[in-house]
This record gives sequence, C-alpha cells and structure tokens, in this order.
Amino acid sequence: MKGFTTRIVHSDRGKPIEHGSLQKPIHATVAYGYEDARDLAAAFQGTKAGYTYGRQVNPTVEALQDKITAMENGVQSVCFGTGMAAIGTTLFSLLRAGDHLVSSSFLFGNTNSLFNTFGAHGIDVTFVDATDVAAVAAAITPATKMVFVETIANPRTQVSALREIGQLCAERTLVYFVDNTMTSPYLFQPGEVQASLVINSLTKYIGGHGNALGGSVTEMGRYDWRTFENIYDTYKNGDHEKWAITQIKKKGLRDFGAALGPEAAHHLAVGAETLGLRMERQCTNTRKMTDYLSGHPLVKAVYYPGLVEHPEHHRALELFRYPGALFSFELDASVDLWEYLNRLEVIVKSSNLGDNRTLAIPVAHTIYYEMGERRRASMGIDESLIRISAGIEESDDLLDDLARAFGDGISNND
Ligand SMILES: *Cc1c(COP(=O)(O)O)cnc(C)c1O
Repeated sequence: MKGFTTRIVHSDRGKPIEHGSLQKPIHATVAYGYEDARDLAAAFQGTKAGYTYGRQVNPTVEALQDKITAMENGVQSVCFGTGMAAIGTTLFSLLRAGDHLVSSSFLFGNTNSLFNTFGAHGIDVTFVDATDVAAVAAAITPATKMVFVETIANPRTQVSALREIGQLCAERTLVYFVDNTMTSPYLFQPGEVQASLVINSLTKYIGGHGNALGGSVTEMGRYDWRTFENIYDTYKNGDHEKWAITQIKKKGLRDFGAALGPEAAHHLAVGAETLGLRMERQCTNTRKMTDYLSGHPLVKAVYYPGLVEHPEHHRALELFRYPGALFSFELDASVDLWEYLNRLEVIVKSSNLGDNRTLAIPVAHTIYYEMGERRRASMGIDESLIRISAGIEESDDLLDDLARAFGDGISNND
C-alpha cells in the first residue's frame, strides 16, 4: 500500500472528474435533475447510483468522505456539519431508550454534555476511567450496546486502554465507537484496535487551518451488524458491513439534517492533503515545548503522553506514531496566570485546537468554567492549567515566546 500522504492527495482521482480537474469542484447545489423520471425514482430507491437531495448527499462532500475512508483504512464514511453532529447523529441513529452506553469519563466537554442529555432521553450512560479496561468491563450491563472512548483526552492527555477495550468489545459483541480527533488518522488508526466506528472532528487536525467546521463517522468493517438489534429492516439489504453506516446516513442525516456544506467540504479536503506534514511539525514543536517546560522551575506539572513520567507513556509509544500535538501545564503559585498568558506574543490566546497557529487557553476559566471549582478539582483540573495546541511555527519562536513570558513572571517573587 502506498504512503499516507500519497494516498490522500491522489484520492479524488479514484473517480473521473470533469475536465481532468485535479481538485474536486465545489458542487454548490441542493438538488439534482434527471432526464428520465425512472432514473430519479431509481436513485431514491437505491437501485441505481444517483444523487437525491443535498441534506444527504453532495459530490464535493462525497469526495471528502472517500478521502477520510482512505485515511482511516475504513469501509465507508459519512460527513456532518460538525464533530458534535457526527457523534450525536450516530448515537441517535443506533441507540434507543433502554439501551446503555459505557463512556470514558475523560471526554471533550461538549461530548460530556451531550451524553448527559442522552440520559434524560432514556439512554443510560455510565462514565468510567477508560485508561483501565477493568473499569470498562465492570460497567457493562445486559443493556450495554456501545463503548465510547477518545484516543487522547483533552486537556489532561489521558490515553485510553484502546487495544484492551477493543478486545473486550469484540468478546462481548459491543459496538466500539472511538473519537480519533486528538490523534487524527495520521498518528493512529483505531481500526487497528478493532474499533467498529470512528469519529473525527474535521474542524481540528484534518482541516487544520481553523477555517471550517466538520465531522465524520467511518465504518471500519470490524463489527457484525447482523447481531445488532437496532438496525431497521429497510437498511438490512446488501453488504451487512454497511448496514449501520447506511442507517446513520439515510436515517440519521435525513432526520437530524446536520449536513456538511460543499464549501466547507472543499476547505476541509484541501486541508486534509497536508495533514501528515503539519502533524510532523506540530508533534516536534510539542516535544520541544514540553521538554523545555518540564525542566522549568516555575512550572508545577506538564501533561503530555510523550513525557516518560506520564502514566500512559508506554501505551502512547506503542499505539501512536507520535504522542500527539496537544499538552497542558500548571504554573507555580508565584506566577500570575493572566500576566503570563498576556505576555505571550506568538502564541494566540484562543479556544480550538489543531490549528496551524499555536493556541493557549486557561482551561478552568473558559472551557471548564461552567462545571465549577469542585467538579474541576475532582477531574484534576488545576486553576492555573494552561492547554497548548501546537501549531506549525518554527519551534525557536515558540520556545522564545514561552521563555520571554517567564522572564517577566519571575519578578512576582522579588
Ligand atoms: C472538537 C472536538 C469534538 C467536536 O468537534 P466540533 O467540530 O467542534 O463539533 C469532538 N471530539 C473531540 C475530541 C474534539 O476535540
């Protein structure tokens, strides 16, 4: 098989494009016209390939879907307007009231919020420490249908017991739904640990430029959907590998309508071409920044799976090409958080991650503000915790920026 980037930059050529165009054009259309009404009907009935309506299908979006399938070595992908839409629609499509979901408790905040909402709609969720497969196993009940984990959690960078949970799900015939956003398919392909479905927020590393929102779900062909009770009879035709992804697309995307637009799909597809190049640089920058900070007297702690003292360091080395491009750190009590952040000149104070620009955010006061100090403490979120998403700048400029901000910070002591 050809290399990752070779396959991605040439993926559009798998299907003929008008005029030999090398970029899949932006098909800004909602509907598709047919000369023969019988072809229109056949497209709707799925007996003949053809486009029906923009909420479910668009050629530009489809080209991106194929690219993501190639990146993940999957069977088929469906795109959504955001990563949250991908997670929400998948759960709405595949789970029903009375079903039970086991989820990692180390979760992206909005996913945590979504899962709590599911609880109010009769889908019970148990949150467990997913760095430990025994905790996942202990939470399984006869009603459990699915296990959800993230590869590397943010902001404290816990690494789930991905391989062991994959084995457990295979033994217990549970759907294994993995959020690969933080690693991206360049660093890790969850199919290797028996993931059934993989979600990516395209907004982050895959798009990479912070200029478009998007999400995707990829069928990995590892789960036997014939054993899954919640597939509607309508979608039980053809290849059973595709029953669930068809239900997510035909029912989920149609009912909830969180479609990705063709313009955003184009931005994301162009971004995806350089995922490998950007990740190399972002991971190198992360290693240099965490090496520098972990030796600094005014830094209390650094959280990054690439550091030997990280509890899942060996797991990260075994599973991932690099241990990610995001880390967090706590400042010594003598350093004022706001002054430190405001002295940064290159690094941007901003939410988001996976951008080409290095971004810093004071976690407790922004993305984790709503949960309150007590819950933050229970999650190990220090009030001084700063999350950094490494960009592609030259590493010396980033190290200088971090150092300059400390140079002034020391003055708090004198
Ligand atoms: C950002 C993010 C999401 C949600 O993606 P959006 O595109 O912002 O909706 C889901 N999971 C993880 C791990 C994320 O970082």
